[in-house]
Amino acid sequence: MPRIRAIIFDMDGVLIDAREWHYKALNRALGLFGFSIDRFDHLVTYDGLPTRKKLEMLSLDSGLPRKLHGLINDLKQKYTLEIVYGECRPVFRHQYALARLREEGRRLVVASNSVRATVDMMMERAALAPYLEFTLSNQDVQRAKPDPDIYLTALKRLALPAPECLVVEDNPHGIAAAQAAGIPLLAIPSPDYLSYERIAARIVELEQVV
Ligand SMILES: [Mg+2]
Repeated sequence: MPRIRAIIFDMDGVLIDAREWHYKALNRALGLFGFSIDRFDHLVTYDGLPTRKKLEMLSLDSGLPRKLHGLINDLKQKYTLEIVYGECRPVFRHQYALARLREEGRRLVVASNSVRATVDMMMERAALAPYLEFTLSNQDVQRAKPDPDIYLTALKRLALPAPECLVVEDNPHGIAAAQAAGIPLLAIPSPDYLSYERIAARIVELEQVV
């Protein structure tokens, strides 16, 4: 009977509803150069990918000059931090979930496709940082999700085998990454679905497997 010793949370779409902020920040940066992503494309195609990857796709689809990538990326990260600082707030249900899991002796970490500064700012503003043992950003690994790199790195740092962990993810890129790393999964559609009860129910299922 495996014991689930650690829970690895994706950040965007799981602990934080940041889609609108990323969308606004990227469009504000793109807008300076006369480009934009529409809301539908962002939700269905771009959501969950690192900004670098989104810009690469925009160059292929809309002819965004590649020489602007660095500048747009820097501006986007700056705008994201501004928006997050103003709009990110603690969610009691999430704090409660993490507090209960910690009380049960489970180790909690974050593995996110966002950059380091965004992960730190969001976890701080959402008041979740105190519950986390460590966080991984896309700058801590070679390859972003859907590559399993970040989840394999988390396992290594936890020094735990995959079956003793649980990943909570919201989108296909992250789910693919967790599955490729062989870690049991709880998929939720949005942060509204993140609760202690849902995580606990999934843990019971996994711990019952003989
Ligand atoms: Mg996500």
